[in-house]
Amino acid sequence: MLILLFLFLLVVPTGVMAGRVIVSESEAHRLGQPDRWLTPVCATCGRELSLTTAHCRLHRHPQPRRNPVIILVTVLLFLAMVPAAPSLWVWPAYAVFIGASVLLTVTDLDTKLIPNRILGPSIVVGSVLLAGGWLAATESGSLVRALGGGFAYFAVMYILALLARGGLGFGDVKLAFLIGIFAGYLSWGAVVVAGLGGFIIGGVVSIGLLLARTRGRKDEIPFGPFMTVAGVVAVLWGVQVISWYSG
Ligand SMILES: [Zn+2]
Repeated sequence: MLILLFLFLLVVPTGVMAGRVIVSESEAHRLGQPDRWLTPVCATCGRELSLTTAHCRLHRHPQPRRNPVIILVTVLLFLAMVPAAPSLWVWPAYAVFIGASVLLTVTDLDTKLIPNRILGPSIVVGSVLLAGGWLAATESGSLVRALGGGFAYFAVMYILALLARGGLGFGDVKLAFLIGIFAGYLSWGAVVVAGLGGFIIGGVVSIGLLLARTRGRKDEIPFGPFMTVAGVVAVLWGVQVISWYSG
């Protein structure tokens, strides 16, 4: 009971803090000002935002409605990661992965780009934390498989990007490396769930959008969000997906 309380007191505030950074960074990229502070600020007056980032503290200027939703989703995913992590020692690494996935999803939907400014630090910081967690609890997963998963997913996407001739961006290829590391640390099954899942979700959503005629056949749909959603599902519930599939 005490450990649960402790986790709740640690994981929820960490999620709120990470969510606020995600709001700030995604707004910076959406508005084309990627040098903003990591503290979310008001687009109108430049002052700091409230805890939920729904409005600014001083003038209460309203902010994008999605801001509190981004924070809530981040907190819920951080909580879901506690039982899903093979060891609590690797939870910080997976929190970085989940935070990066939420931020890259929002940014790719806004700008159709996977910025290196987000992807680079996520891979470096996430990998260092993963290696540290593995050292503290060697039974929790495999660093060799993590590297293998990263390169395998990267290689598949690289070949597909060459074949697709512009249909897949190189940002998606680099994103595959990040996802492959964190799925691979858990199992090869998780890598397969992440990789195939991206194409399955992407296919279903694309067909749905075409049928609903909200998007023409020629409109570009960014592929990164399908990869990140499938990656987070694979990391959180990969075991369940595999056992459901194999009956
Ligand atoms: Zn303001």
